[in-house]
Amino acid sequence: MNELTINILCKQFGIDKDVIDFVNEKEKYILDKFEEIDKIKEYNQFKVINAMQECKLSSTDFNWTTGYGYGDLGRDKVEEIYARVFNTEDALVRPTIASGTHALTLTLSGILRPSDELIAITGAPYDTLQKVIGIKGNIPGNLMEFGIKYKEIPLVNNTIDVNNVLNNIGNRTKILLIQRSTGYSDRRALTVEEIETAVKAIRKENDEVIIMVDNCYGEFLEYKEPTDVGVDIMAGSLIKNPGGGIALAGGYIVGKRNLVQLIANRLTAPGLGKECGLSFGTTRSTLQGLFLAPHIVSEAVKGALLVAIVYKELGFNVVPDVDDKRSDIIQGIQLNSPERVVEFCRGIQAASAVDSFVVPEAWEMPGYEDKVVMAAGGFIEGSSIELSADGPIRDPYFVYYQGGLTYEHCKLGVLKSLNNLIEKKLIDITKTKNLKQD
Ligand SMILES: *Cc1c(COP(=O)(O)O)cnc(C)c1O
Repeated sequence: MNELTINILCKQFGIDKDVIDFVNEKEKYILDKFEEIDKIKEYNQFKVINAMQECKLSSTDFNWTTGYGYGDLGRDKVEEIYARVFNTEDALVRPTIASGTHALTLTLSGILRPSDELIAITGAPYDTLQKVIGIKGNIPGNLMEFGIKYKEIPLVNNTIDVNNVLNNIGNRTKILLIQRSTGYSDRRALTVEEIETAVKAIRKENDEVIIMVDNCYGEFLEYKEPTDVGVDIMAGSLIKNPGGGIALAGGYIVGKRNLVQLIANRLTAPGLGKECGLSFGTTRSTLQGLFLAPHIVSEAVKGALLVAIVYKELGFNVVPDVDDKRSDIIQGIQLNSPERVVEFCRGIQAASAVDSFVVPEAWEMPGYEDKVVMAAGGFIEGSSIELSADGPIRDPYFVYYQGGLTYEHCKLGVLKSLNNLIEKKLIDITKTKNLKQD
């Protein structure tokens, strides 16, 4: 590291020289892993550009219409490109899909009918979806209120328990839900290969049931996506990976044409489907974000690796582990105390370009059961492809780190958060077994 760099980190960012040396030292262990990350990035970049060319993306597609949005060519082009990138028959990509949760909710409520059954086959789904389904919170409008039945099948050794799944499929089972990413759990993400193995085994016995994937945080981590290996329908958020930090808002759903049609009828109205709904001039930013996404994701994954090695070396349990194959951008760190979770997030916030002066507090966030603390100083509010960290205040006090539009920013986040934890005397850098001190 150049003297000027060390100077600015010490003098302007208030980071202790020992912390800088420690992080630089640990970084050496992960540099050889960057090569594989770059290869995946290269392929995905070409895949995205090819989709844009094949769909004849044109400068006039960035124009938009008003009112009903009939003939919004840019909107249609975005959806055509998404369908190509994800290798599906059709896509629904809209700025009016408020979030990943909304995209997943539309998918479920568009397909499921009263007395149909949904089975989550990767254990408890993401916190917000538990409220959507109706297993937590008893919020009016949840799926169970509409007569949807629900079952959950836990993972066994981080693997989908295919036999148990097959034994549980009944004649009203409509959807099997797979969550690729860690979410707020203590498991690593499922790889696309693992998803493929499960999908093939299920398909051997059953070709009716709809296999759905919550792909949040998984896009562009691998050469393939779940829809390349037989998944029927998949959804995610545009303020995570595929928005590349540029998309202003939105969600996507990709998959079989008949399913996307059902979901579009839920999004707008039966009879309207995909034909209306304004893009509000977001076509250019959505596609520029998609163009940048493979690169941005690679930066974020490198950042996640740096966090992993630093905290592993300090004696903490990190998920995924440094040598695990990565299939999402999340890095979980089991910090074992609520104070550490909060101070870690405060350090990340202090490294942000936007709102660096804000001090995050744990709060009752809509959709979540436990209090959640969040560091989110993004250019796009709540964007977690940007440098961010969050954690529910619950045992065993995992903090989830993700995003970073540049690796350098990730590194600043690691430096600031570690420095903060040391300043608050919550971690001792001279001891590598902080975990054992508790
Ligand atoms: C982020 C996320 C969601 C959706 O969250 P939103 O904040 O609503 O976009 C759903 N599932 C998983 C696994 C996620 O990581």
